[in-house]
Amino acid sequence: MYLISACLVGIDCKYSGGNNLNPKIVKLLEEKKVILVCPEQLGGLTTPRLPSEIVYDEDGNKKVVNIEGQDVTKEFFKGAEETLKIAKLMGAKVAILKAKSPSCGKGKVYDGQFRHVLVDGNGITTDLLEKNGIKVYTEEDDIDF
Ligand code: SF4
Repeated sequence: MYLISACLVGIDCKYSGGNNLNPKIVKLLEEKKVILVCPEQLGGLTTPRLPSEIVYDEDGNKKVVNIEGQDVTKEFFKGAEETLKIAKLMGAKVAILKAKSPSCGKGKVYDGQFRHVLVDGNGITTDLLEKNGIKVYTEEDDIDF
């Protein structure tokens, strides 16, 4: 059972109102049991919504702000918790999530300045899933799903 970012199979849940359709991931729908999730929608954010990026508070904790400077940390963490709940209910041990997203990214995310610069780090949902023993990949990983 794979947990998959819904935008990767064409669901219009991306902040812009569009999706990140990826044929390689769509193929998994035919072959495997999958569960589609969008952590940002599960956290109560609207679609479309303003783009958001991860920043750090003075104690080094992750926060999330949108491009207008509004703090959306609560919604991002709520989305992560709900995604974890779904993963546990369904017994998912592997997730394939959208690279670079402040929720779903793994290994690289944008630097919080909205200037398309990547830095090392994970999205909020990826952090929580990995803390709970779920292996997270992105669509950019060169592995045989
Ligand atoms: Fe896709 Fe994840 Fe962003 Fe939802 S939160 S649109 S699933 S990258």
